[in-house]
Amino acid sequence: MRIAVIHVAQETNDFNPKLTTLDDYRSFGILDGADVFEKMRGYGQIGGYLHAVEESGIAVESVPIIRGYAVAGGRISREAFDFFQKKIRDGLTAAGPIDGLALQLHGACAADGIDDVEGAQVELCRSLLGADVPIVLGLDHHANITRKIIDNCDAIVGHRTQPHDTFDTGVVGTRLLLRILTEKLKPVIAWRKIPLVSHQEQFLTSQGPMKIWFDRAREMEQDPRVLQVSNYPMQPWLDVAEGGWSAVVVTNGDRALAEELADELADLCWSLRDEFQVREAVPVDEAVLRADAADKGVVIISDTGDTVFGGAGGDSNVILEAMLRLGIRGKALMPMISASTAHKLAAAGEGAEVTLTLGGDTATAFFQPLEVTGVVRRIGGGIVKIDYNQQSELDLGCAVVFEVGPVTMLITEFRGVAGNVPSVYRVMGIEPAEYKMAVLKTASNFQYFAPIASQLIRADTRGPGQSDVLTLPWQRVPRPMYPLESFEDWRAHSSQPGLVPARG
Ligand SMILES: [Zn+2]
Repeated sequence: MRIAVIHVAQETNDFNPKLTTLDDYRSFGILDGADVFEKMRGYGQIGGYLHAVEESGIAVESVPIIRGYAVAGGRISREAFDFFQKKIRDGLTAAGPIDGLALQLHGACAADGIDDVEGAQVELCRSLLGADVPIVLGLDHHANITRKIIDNCDAIVGHRTQPHDTFDTGVVGTRLLLRILTEKLKPVIAWRKIPLVSHQEQFLTSQGPMKIWFDRAREMEQDPRVLQVSNYPMQPWLDVAEGGWSAVVVTNGDRALAEELADELADLCWSLRDEFQVREAVPVDEAVLRADAADKGVVIISDTGDTVFGGAGGDSNVILEAMLRLGIRGKALMPMISASTAHKLAAAGEGAEVTLTLGGDTATAFFQPLEVTGVVRRIGGGIVKIDYNQQSELDLGCAVVFEVGPVTMLITEFRGVAGNVPSVYRVMGIEPAEYKMAVLKTASNFQYFAPIASQLIRADTRGPGQSDVLTLPWQRVPRPMYPLESFEDWRAHSSQPGLVPARG
């Protein structure tokens, strides 16, 4: 049995105007050939694929096609889109006959001029493989499910948790693909499109409404007729033509059951719609003062407006400005992504005192440059080892530790993991545990700092990843969209309300 493996992933934030380029993918490593399995063993969906194949004991010849990953950011360039289309086309053509495809994408990627990147990728694979080769698609559960995605794959598997366990998704998807191939299953997919968006403050699957919704999906999978159930709370900053949340149910040949369960999941989600909108973030000054007054560190301040893991630019100076103005006493850590600033500081040299403007050089609609004076503590960067669930190393480009009063900033050329993973500071000679507070550029991924964190405070920051979805400059999502508009019946405004009439 021969199975081809493709992994191409990026999550797009439409309110970050800076395009994601091939250089962004290269900083995480674009792999093909034997490198795909050698470097990704144990990591991400590819690691999960290898694990599932090995545990199965089935004689599988695995054919690696391409692995490209970039951290979330602005839309991908047309060059990057075309590059991966060519890699997929050339790779699958050269692979010769295969029995199945493990296709591992993100689901919330948009390109310059193309809203539905994954739809185009799945469609390309289907056109090359024909109708009879099963394609099992692994997606991030913040994906935007589209008609083109549904029409071109046999089954879809989404992450089961937030924070994500991408390895797990690879395992689950591969087990399903192997079952389809060896047990001759006949998967059918039912899906519902829910006209809903929400910020990420209620996105953890371990608590609140998301737990209720995801727990129900897991319960449904206990039925042996059900092959896979997944919920897709679309990432909140994707402004695309078919945008919105989804529920997807795959059964073994039982269309009626799939439709019934998809209806139930969409109804359950809709009943929780206002709970998903509950905000916990506090004003920026309050967040900073509370963190500074805390008994012990490390207090995590979540800068959701500038969430790099949600695709924002990493150029916000909003919390920095507040920390300097309020005169915090504790020491703070903060990342910033700016190629020009990193190079400028590196040119000044270690020990130099430099006055320059910081931030506001990417998402200029949200941030103004802030003039500061600081000292260059350390220059470094390049390819570093990190503790990250997607891979073990990445390229920071030029990286500089810049001390601005009580704030220690890590300013990098490439996006990397911003400051969301402690080891990115450690490779620059900084121990995060010694700090009172750390600004994280994520709304959900606090797991890396959890071992040294004392508490979490969400700051209500503006930016491309802001929680206030009502004032974002939406242009392309279908309207009406809850809560941008208020309405009672999700089916009345759904592009995919389902085949079964509403019950009740
Ligand atoms: Zn996600």
